[in-house]
Amino acid sequence: MKKQCSKCGEWKELEEFNNDKKSKDGKGWECKECRSIRSVLYYRNNKDIIKTKTKNYYVKNKQKCTRRENDRYHQNKKEISIKRKIHRRENKEKINYQDKLYYQNNKIKKLISCKKYKTNNREKVNQWSNEYMKKNIKYLSDWYVLNRITNQFDIKRSQITPQMIQIKRKQIMVHRALKQFKEVINE
Ligand SMILES: [Zn+2]
Repeated sequence: MKKQCSKCGEWKELEEFNNDKKSKDGKGWECKECRSIRSVLYYRNNKDIIKTKTKNYYVKNKQKCTRRENDRYHQNKKEISIKRKIHRRENKEKINYQDKLYYQNNKIKKLISCKKYKTNNREKVNQWSNEYMKKNIKYLSDWYVLNRITNQFDIKRSQITPQMIQIKRKQIMVHRALKQFKEVINE
């Protein structure tokens, strides 16, 4: 059986319409395609309103929302893991870089672990170290690190190996991290 879509006017199979309990034939007045176009357009035109509304709803119904998200995750586990795999494959370089950052980040966190402080102020420390990594990693170029080594030690540029630069970079990072960490504690 076919039905005419009131929006695009095309005759389509019933399964191409969403269910609607209120209508006589149990199907909506517009086809699925028209409906999705309409919702995309609606979202595009009302982005800000929708965002604040969803945010407000989420804040008010936090428990309900997390429960629903968990349910959705468990129902679509397979699909989600496939999507993640595809995403990882398509963004390999970016993710590798993120992993690297994450690893370094954690290393510093371990180094500065003043355990009691960390457990009591987990959020603060996490936020701080994320910001720290973002801000500082780009300033530690090879060139900069090389200069630090030649300033500090009686050594020629040609004698400096990439490993030395790596070690020095880490040392500078840890040193800076400790300094900032102390500032955070004293806040
Ligand atoms: Zn239609």
